[in-house]
Amino acid sequence: MNWYERFNAVGISKPKKAITGRNLRDARQCDKEVKHCRNCNCCWELDTTRNPSKVERYQNFPSYGKTKEVCPLCIEGETNG
Ligand SMILES: [Zn+2]
Repeated sequence: MNWYERFNAVGISKPKKAITGRNLRDARQCDKEVKHCRNCNCCWELDTTRNPSKVERYQNFPSYGKTKEVCPLCIEGETNG
């Protein structure tokens, strides 16, 4: 095995690996963490892993089965996003 084959076997292609890992993590979290805001019609969650006060909003996110709850951004009156 030369250096190039070894490089690929170990999987050091970091950018693609990182994106996949993040998507998998988000997919796992979404069922229990994500809520749906009727006001801005977005799904949202509190991003407690990085910043306790940060709200992540997802447009074009399936709202089926999500808890209906107005997001903190709408509560604060910040509707542009
Ligand atoms: Zn909202």
